[in-house]
Amino acid sequence: MYDIILRDCHLPGYTGEVDVAIVQGKIASIATKNKARATTELSCQGLLVTPPFVEPHIHLDSVLTAGEPRFNQSGTLFEGIQIWAERKQSLHKKDVRRRALEALKFMASQGILYVRTHVDVTETKLIALDALLELREEVRDWVTLQIVTFPQDGIFGQPANERLLIEALRRGADVIGGIPHYELTREDGVRSLDRIFSLAARHHCLIDIHCDEIDDEQSRFLEVVAANAIRHGNGERVTASHTTAFACYNDAYSYKLMGFLRRAGINFVANPQINITLQGRMDTYPKRRGMTRVKELWQNGLNVSLGQDCIFDPWYVLGTGNMLSVAHMGIHVAQMIGMQEIEASFAMITQNGARTLQIPDYGIKVGNPANIVVLNAPNIFHALRFQVSARYVIAHGKWIAETKPVETMMNAEGLDMHHKVGHKKKS
Ligand SMILES: [Zn+2]
Repeated sequence: MYDIILRDCHLPGYTGEVDVAIVQGKIASIATKNKARATTELSCQGLLVTPPFVEPHIHLDSVLTAGEPRFNQSGTLFEGIQIWAERKQSLHKKDVRRRALEALKFMASQGILYVRTHVDVTETKLIALDALLELREEVRDWVTLQIVTFPQDGIFGQPANERLLIEALRRGADVIGGIPHYELTREDGVRSLDRIFSLAARHHCLIDIHCDEIDDEQSRFLEVVAANAIRHGNGERVTASHTTAFACYNDAYSYKLMGFLRRAGINFVANPQINITLQGRMDTYPKRRGMTRVKELWQNGLNVSLGQDCIFDPWYVLGTGNMLSVAHMGIHVAQMIGMQEIEASFAMITQNGARTLQIPDYGIKVGNPANIVVLNAPNIFHALRFQVSARYVIAHGKWIAETKPVETMMNAEGLDMHHKVGHKKKS
């Protein structure tokens, strides 16, 4: 007797439809026509069953604050930083907890069960950090939350910031962050990365750098991240987020750099919705797309994942915590519209993100935690094209969310159409 059986799943890698059985929070069996019974039986009717989406880059401390104290009318990064500097004066633990929890709930309802959040640790009381550390434990049964110490104003930009960064690691953050291109000088930026790598070694934490998020083709901290990763031999534990300047470098330098990146084996996170919006603001025309070289990194065998970055905050007023919308934008901006490229984009919001976060037991395999999403689509292509909802979401063996497919009826004269978006067409 199982706790849950998902009947007739389309599970990539298996021929025909399979039943996935769950007991005590773990995947117990994957088989065709499993005769056993379960307390809960969910009929999947050939729908796509996938491991959960991974959100590798979000700022939960600032989610759901757009309009406070005012909306970002220019939509630029700099007006966003200015508004956040004002808003963060009134942060308190309950405020951060309420907004972050609300965001995590609607992310989970759409199939995201692994989240890496950055948290600004240049605020002297570390209020948001403490709120998110508590929340990480509170939500552990349904979402894995990783916390990055993010020095928004730079490590050496203010005298207290280095101490705050170390204090944040001491309090239990999982990942150390940095923002070298926003340090006061190039030299400070290089020094900040050296410091981050030595702190990571001491505190046994992962590294995730806001790296070169600027249209300046002279911003070359990605090479410094790669050099540090090569010297420390820890590339798989290191992530370079944004790296938008990489889209502006000349091709001779980019070719050389790509070789170093392959050698370093670091992870990448691109945030297509945010960077297509924030970058290229000083350009007239032609206007740059502002996203890093996602397609070329992927073609070079590097691990690329995609993130949303912002949900209704001072930098981006849209955002719904939906990874299919992130991949959809990524496909457009990176021009990855070939069938193989579309499949690769789906990997960037699932397994590649899990690799970035170093999740050890990710994937639908017997013995792994039963973290499973059933999408309202028969396959990956359909899921991305129609931006379907998650039919069922199962976290650690518990059925936590269900969304019924959208159903549209057309009754105009001459039309007799009954169309369910996302449903498998029976023939
Ligand atoms: Zn960010």
